[in-house]
Amino acid sequence: MTTTYPPEPFRIKTVESIRLPSPKEREAALKTAGYNVFTLKAEDIFIDLLTDSGTGAMSSEQWAAIMRGDESYAGARSFHRLKAAVDDIFGFKYFVPTHQGRAAENILSACLVKENQWVPSNMHFDTTDANIRARGGRPANLVIDEAFDPANLHPFKGNMDLAKLKAFIAKYGREKIPFGMITVTNNAGGGQPVSMENLKAVAEIYRASGIPFYIDAARYAENCFFIRQRERGYEHKSPIEIAREMFSLADGFCMSAKKDAIVNIGGLLATNDEALFNNIRNELILREGFPTYGGLAGRDLDALAVGLYEGLDEAYLVYRLGQTAYLAACINDAGIPTIQPAGGHAVYVVANEILPHIPNYEFPAQSLTVELYREGAIRGCEIGSVMFACLDPETNTWNYPKLELMRLAIPRRMYTQTHMDYVADALAKIKSRAKNLRGYKFTYAPEMLRHFTAQFEPL
Ligand SMILES: *Cc1c(COP(=O)(O)O)cnc(C)c1O
Repeated sequence: MTTTYPPEPFRIKTVESIRLPSPKEREAALKTAGYNVFTLKAEDIFIDLLTDSGTGAMSSEQWAAIMRGDESYAGARSFHRLKAAVDDIFGFKYFVPTHQGRAAENILSACLVKENQWVPSNMHFDTTDANIRARGGRPANLVIDEAFDPANLHPFKGNMDLAKLKAFIAKYGREKIPFGMITVTNNAGGGQPVSMENLKAVAEIYRASGIPFYIDAARYAENCFFIRQRERGYEHKSPIEIAREMFSLADGFCMSAKKDAIVNIGGLLATNDEALFNNIRNELILREGFPTYGGLAGRDLDALAVGLYEGLDEAYLVYRLGQTAYLAACINDAGIPTIQPAGGHAVYVVANEILPHIPNYEFPAQSLTVELYREGAIRGCEIGSVMFACLDPETNTWNYPKLELMRLAIPRRMYTQTHMDYVADALAKIKSRAKNLRGYKFTYAPEMLRHFTAQFEPL
């Protein structure tokens, strides 16, 4: 095998046991969970690739920072340490901590979005989408078309389609667009990066129309490293230099710190707009807490201040993106297609290509997700018709998503290369018996966000 592997740039000081349940126990666990992996108990899972959000391993430096946490209600030292890091990396005039990313989105939407206004982005993450809608606004996804072709090797499949953005602004005008966004990396589109060239062009289009520009920065560090690896002129820049350039283009950002800042809880919201910041602070006090802690404990602020730098560490990022690419390559070597090129935080297996005999209304990606647990007690996440098929109220017919995917999201610094090999081997075994896999039907399905609580039966 020619696949290159990245040696982990850390050694292990504390371990947490995981247990491989027997095949009989796995079968029983699946039945009890109604064949929905969201309902499984974590103790019944050997390798958990459900999400990379808040699941990373903190470093010894972060745990030391936790002990330094200052729990003063106002003006804690922890806040000032976080402020020094946020000012240094992102460079906005004002910021607040929040308890996680969606709290920052909620506050930004509450302050800026009015009924029937639009917020364009490459692609909105689902909580961002929902927070804009909750204020009567309308999210719009204007990513390039290449994002929807799983085999296309475009290096920046998260890019905004500039022609679509210009046409969109021409159609709705500044009054209907309270602010514009871009998500780095594009989580909803496979963790694909946005180029600096595209970010500059997007910033210029927004600026020319007087539209404030906010970055959804959950995976800013992974995006910066993709820029370094793939964009001419950046090969010698450090991730932090690239980050500073990226954020200098925007008027502010919101961020889930549970991703690239490698903490278990936390978020940030920043802006250069003083009047807006006063409103943000008032909303924050109402919903989250005093502006120097924003819904977090002092110790959380300290862990975040350290994590913001660790997420930008070059050796870490080589390993991080290398690990995702390694898992994708091993899966591809077994003849199983994944979205190309590998994203930053996750590998997306194209389930309908392994299970062409299961029609979308019998949920091929769900079948594969259940089978991966059955085979190796590994938890992935269905991103297909269970999550996204929707009933068109006008025609009373079901619309199915273009892709039936199973996402394998990799928690940061948590699993080793052997764990990745184990996952790829389990998928290879499933492929060899793929013909025997069957579809599923709902025995219970709520109307909205049904993937979280639905129950199934095998067909
Ligand atoms: C996770 C995420 C969010 C929401 O953050 P939470 O911390 O889960 O509330 C928003 N945008 C993107 C791109 C994300 O990945």
